[in-house]
Amino acid sequence: MPLSTSRRLALLTSASLALLAGCGSSSDSAGGTSTPARVAVVASTNVYGDIVRHIGGDRVDVTSIISDPDQDPHSYEADTQNQLALSKAKVVVENGGGYDDFVDRMLKSGHNDSAAVINAVKVSGRTAPKGGELNEHVWYDFPTVAEVADRIAAALAKADPDGAAAFTKNAAAFKAKLAPLEAKEAQIKKEHGGEGVAITEPVPLYMTEASGLVDKTPPAFSEAVEEGDDVSPRVLQESLALFSGRKVKALVYNEQTSGPQTEKAESAAKAADVPVVPVTETLPKGKDYLGWMTGNVDALASALAK
Ligand SMILES: [Zn+2]
Repeated sequence: MPLSTSRRLALLTSASLALLAGCGSSSDSAGGTSTPARVAVVASTNVYGDIVRHIGGDRVDVTSIISDPDQDPHSYEADTQNQLALSKAKVVVENGGGYDDFVDRMLKSGHNDSAAVINAVKVSGRTAPKGGELNEHVWYDFPTVAEVADRIAAALAKADPDGAAAFTKNAAAFKAKLAPLEAKEAQIKKEHGGEGVAITEPVPLYMTEASGLVDKTPPAFSEAVEEGDDVSPRVLQESLALFSGRKVKALVYNEQTSGPQTEKAESAAKAADVPVVPVTETLPKGKDYLGWMTGNVDALASALAK
């Protein structure tokens, strides 16, 4: 039923009055009921941004710098907008280990020395293996992610003490949902421990290692892919032979750092009937961290069961 013009006018007037009243009370500093400013948080990727959102809820304002699923984060170029966000951040979550060096650089050039900075690689305690390179993809390492969640809760509590109890509670809830993922890895280890897998780039290695699987990929192959370099013909042949010779049970394929040579590996795996498990560096659209990682571990388990 349409409202009469006079009724609509009356509604409009009362709405305007309410608005005016609202303005009046918020400018009254003695009121003290205004909502607190949200904590400004910058995460270098949407992976950490999502975890911060889980823990901070509506008390945080999160900016995730890298979130394009079609872009290789290893070659991301930060811009002035990122610089601005970082200069205002109260809490910063970076990956570290050379993955997102621009974060520290921009904090410095933006003269932000008061932000609490959480560096996931430092939290992990992971270092380069003897003669090898550090695998910086620590967000595939669930014990590290649990520890990062605690550090985030602590940093947010410092910036917003009134939210401390909520942050601690949310971090506990997050970790409770993370624990089953470690249990799934342990189950894979029980059933498939010692079996070989191939990778295109080190992104899934903490997950495959926790699952007891052995990476058979020539290190020169995955390192070249990660750096965006060409793989030598000899190394490529050696890598492709893993599939034709059925030396691996699955290929864990990083879709975000793909190129002609990783595509050759993918075709060789498919031709030899070796299951391909796709993974990414950043959070796919429409997923949260826990849902994404559950999908990754489940896909690995079902590939190995084939
Ligand atoms: Zn990577």
